[in-house]
Amino acid sequence: MSTAWRIGVDSRRCIGTSICAGTAPEHFHLVGDRSAPLADVVAPADVILDAADSCPVEAITVRDAADERLIAPQD
Ligand code: SF4
Repeated sequence: MSTAWRIGVDSRRCIGTSICAGTAPEHFHLVGDRSAPLADVVAPADVILDAADSCPVEAITVRDAADERLIAPQD
Protein backbone atom coordinates (compact mmCIF):
# COMPACT_ATOMS: atom_id res chain seq x y z
CA MET A 1 0.00 0.00 0.00
CA SER A 2 1.41 3.34 -1.03
CA THR A 3 1.88 5.92 1.66
CA ALA A 4 2.82 8.75 -0.69
CA TRP A 5 2.31 9.52 -4.36
CA ARG A 6 4.33 11.64 -6.72
CA ILE A 7 2.29 13.73 -9.17
CA GLY A 8 3.75 14.72 -12.50
CA VAL A 9 2.32 16.93 -15.24
CA ASP A 10 3.98 16.82 -18.64
CA SER A 11 3.79 20.47 -19.71
CA ARG A 12 4.62 19.48 -23.29
CA ARG A 13 1.47 17.38 -23.46
CA CYS A 14 -0.88 19.55 -21.39
CA ILE A 15 -3.27 21.58 -23.53
CA GLY A 16 -4.62 23.66 -20.66
CA THR A 17 -8.18 22.37 -20.46
CA SER A 18 -8.21 22.89 -16.66
CA ILE A 19 -10.18 19.67 -16.19
CA CYS A 20 -7.68 18.49 -13.57
CA ALA A 21 -7.90 21.76 -11.65
CA GLY A 22 -11.68 21.56 -11.77
CA THR A 23 -11.68 17.94 -10.60
CA ALA A 24 -9.03 18.32 -7.90
CA PRO A 25 -8.39 22.00 -7.19
CA GLU A 26 -6.52 21.08 -4.03
CA HIS A 27 -3.92 19.30 -6.16
CA PHE A 28 -3.72 21.10 -9.53
CA HIS A 29 -3.71 24.67 -10.75
CA LEU A 30 -2.95 26.41 -13.99
CA VAL A 31 0.30 28.33 -14.30
CA GLY A 32 -0.13 30.40 -17.41
CA ASP A 33 -1.87 28.03 -19.78
CA ARG A 34 -0.45 24.79 -18.38
CA SER A 35 -1.36 22.71 -15.36
CA ALA A 36 1.02 22.07 -12.49
CA PRO A 37 0.66 20.14 -9.26
CA LEU A 38 0.42 22.25 -6.12
CA ALA A 39 2.66 19.69 -4.41
CA ASP A 40 4.75 16.99 -6.05
CA VAL A 41 4.48 14.43 -3.26
CA VAL A 42 1.09 13.98 -1.63
CA ALA A 43 -0.94 11.58 0.44
CA PRO A 44 -2.87 9.12 -1.74
CA ALA A 45 -6.38 10.27 -2.64
CA ASP A 46 -8.90 8.95 -5.16
CA VAL A 47 -9.56 12.43 -6.53
CA ILE A 48 -6.00 12.51 -7.87
CA LEU A 49 -6.68 9.35 -9.87
CA ASP A 50 -9.93 10.87 -11.12
CA ALA A 51 -8.01 13.89 -12.36
CA ALA A 52 -5.33 11.78 -14.03
CA ASP A 53 -7.91 9.58 -15.71
CA SER A 54 -9.92 12.57 -16.93
CA CYS A 55 -7.03 14.31 -18.64
CA PRO A 56 -7.74 14.07 -22.39
CA VAL A 57 -4.06 13.90 -23.34
CA GLU A 58 -2.78 11.75 -20.45
CA ALA A 59 -0.43 14.50 -19.32
CA ILE A 60 -0.78 13.55 -15.65
CA THR A 61 1.12 10.69 -14.10
CA VAL A 62 0.79 9.40 -10.56
CA ARG A 63 3.57 7.25 -9.16
CA ASP A 64 4.32 5.58 -5.88
CA ALA A 65 6.83 7.97 -4.30
CA ALA A 66 8.77 5.07 -2.79
CA ASP A 67 9.38 2.89 -5.84
CA GLU A 68 8.14 5.00 -8.82
CA ARG A 69 5.56 2.36 -9.74
CA LEU A 70 3.01 3.85 -12.15
CA ILE A 71 -0.42 4.14 -10.53
CA ALA A 72 -2.22 6.31 -13.09
CA PRO A 73 -3.15 6.62 -15.84
CA GLN A 74 -4.27 3.05 -16.11
CA ASP A 75 -4.57 1.12 -19.36
S1 SF4 B 1 -6.61 17.90 -17.63
FE1 SF4 B 1 -4.66 17.45 -18.71
S2 SF4 B 1 -4.66 18.83 -20.47
FE2 SF4 B 1 -6.20 19.61 -19.05
S3 SF4 B 1 -5.07 21.13 -17.82
FE3 SF4 B 1 -4.99 19.18 -16.71
S4 SF4 B 1 -3.02 18.24 -17.36
FE4 SF4 B 1 -3.54 19.84 -18.83
